[in-house]
Amino acid sequence: MTQVTQGDDDLPVSSESVRQKKRYYLLGVRVQRMKTKTENPLPKMLPGSVHAQYVRCGKAACKCARGELHGAYYYHFVRAGGRLKKRYLKAPEVEQARAACAAWREAERVRRARSCETWQLIRSVNSLFRDVLKLGGLLTGD
Ligand SMILES: [Zn+2]
Repeated sequence: MTQVTQGDDDLPVSSESVRQKKRYYLLGVRVQRMKTKTENPLPKMLPGSVHAQYVRCGKAACKCARGELHGAYYYHFVRAGGRLKKRYLKAPEVEQARAACAAWREAERVRRARSCETWQLIRSVNSLFRDVLKLGGLLTGD
């Protein structure tokens, strides 16, 4: 694809992000997001964690203004793109979300352990190669 660029910097970047947004829209990402909010299917695995919070409603005459806070309310917290995202959990979702977060952590642990094993394997193959090369050098007298 040929693209006419006058300057090297700004124009291509901004047009790219506009194109990206358009593509997301065409893919129905926005529609899907709204769906998950109303239908609320929690996935089997979730990054992040579930925490309880106690809140103030803001009414001056309420007991919470004197320190007797409302709650606990449960939220799922997750870091996305450097920002902390918070999502309210209905009572029946709390245990499910906790289990999903635990499942995610376990999957991560397994993935890390596997990655560690893979590197150990690579290191031992490397040292084996070095030994073979050394041996080859001894045999040919290099
Ligand atoms: Zn209150």
